[in-house]
Amino acid sequence: MSIYIKNVLLDEKTTNILIHGNKIAGIGIDIEQPTGANVIDGQGKAAFPTFANSHGHAAMSLFRGFGDDHNLGDWLNQWIWPNERNLDPEIIYWGVRLACLEMIKSGTTAFADMYFFLPDAAKAVEESGIRAILSHSFVDLHNPDMAKSVRKEVEGMESIICDWNSSHERTKLSIAPHAIYTVSNETLKFFAEFCTRHNLIYHIHMSETLTEVENSLKENGCRPYELMERLGILEQTGSRFIGAHSLHLSPEEIGLIGKYHCNVAHNPNSNLKLASGHQFFYNELRDAGVNVALGTDGCSSSNNLDMIEAAKVMSLLQKGWRQDPLSMPAPETLKVATRNGFTAMGIDAGELSEGHLADLMLVDLNNIAFVPNNNSTSNLIYAAHGDCVDTVICNGNIVMQGRKVAEEENVIREAQRVVKKLITVRPA
Ligand SMILES: [Zn+2]
Repeated sequence: MSIYIKNVLLDEKTTNILIHGNKIAGIGIDIEQPTGANVIDGQGKAAFPTFANSHGHAAMSLFRGFGDDHNLGDWLNQWIWPNERNLDPEIIYWGVRLACLEMIKSGTTAFADMYFFLPDAAKAVEESGIRAILSHSFVDLHNPDMAKSVRKEVEGMESIICDWNSSHERTKLSIAPHAIYTVSNETLKFFAEFCTRHNLIYHIHMSETLTEVENSLKENGCRPYELMERLGILEQTGSRFIGAHSLHLSPEEIGLIGKYHCNVAHNPNSNLKLASGHQFFYNELRDAGVNVALGTDGCSSSNNLDMIEAAKVMSLLQKGWRQDPLSMPAPETLKVATRNGFTAMGIDAGELSEGHLADLMLVDLNNIAFVPNNNSTSNLIYAAHGDCVDTVICNGNIVMQGRKVAEEENVIREAQRVVKKLITVRPA
């Protein structure tokens, strides 16, 4: 099956894009329309790579707007944990479908996720037509008995993970230690060995708050990334490591993350809303050779999954705290939100050129954010919202055209239904 996108704007020039199977087969004004191709009229549209959301908790979309404006302890203890006890496969399935719908409608075709009920979550992503790496999140609370049962549970999941990964192309399963303050050193190491043995992504919350760093200094005598190096985990996992947040870093830690070619997932909206911090060391990490990607985090802390909004906030934050309007220009922001996210997930997409996977979107140049269209990348990053996206292609398949997504009404109706099963405890 081929897709031929005719007369579309790409890098401010009109061109044609040809997709064969799941790859971009050619780009150029002289590329001709093959017979039998599915033709998309690109007039009045601009093509961009789709976004890769490098950190989130998709099914938490069902908690959108629930328990906002509380401190983390109250929010977890009173609002989230009592209701998470209600989670079941059906709630997870429709929660992930809802998240995928929102992601498709705002131009995202891949996400790295940490939550529960993996096969049900992965089925929802498969049926939505996009990509994900879904990691089951574990804590052992530094308790030896819990550590033992976590180990047992992971060993029980081994064949499920291997079978799924060998038989699915767009979705992969993994396991994730939640964070160093909820997972013991022994379990952190056990996960690294497991992920290395099976060539899986090692996704963990790192250095999200100052408290986390201070407690690590007290308990481990070193900072969080120094601990991960001491345990041999950075070296072992390397480019399969995704450190979500990585907000409070010393220059030495930045050097370590670069040395082992690890990935960092920056979540500006979540960091601001939870008041975790705002001085993310983008330039320093980039210059140290770190692949910095962009994420939204779950809908509980970012309230939406719009990567265009996250990209704008990321850029403005860098300019703001550095007092430097030249930092984080729009093209670099776009690369972090697209190519770098796919790289962190080990997927060869996020770049519109021949041979790469065909994940791309067309934005509507009649959307007010693109009028006038003096510079389409600038308009995308600084002026637009997710609703400018008209067409989304993932792995060579159209998942949205004319802003229409298959089963959209059904997904919304079912999400509204299952949330009644999920949220049964409402603090006053
Ligand atoms: Zn998170």
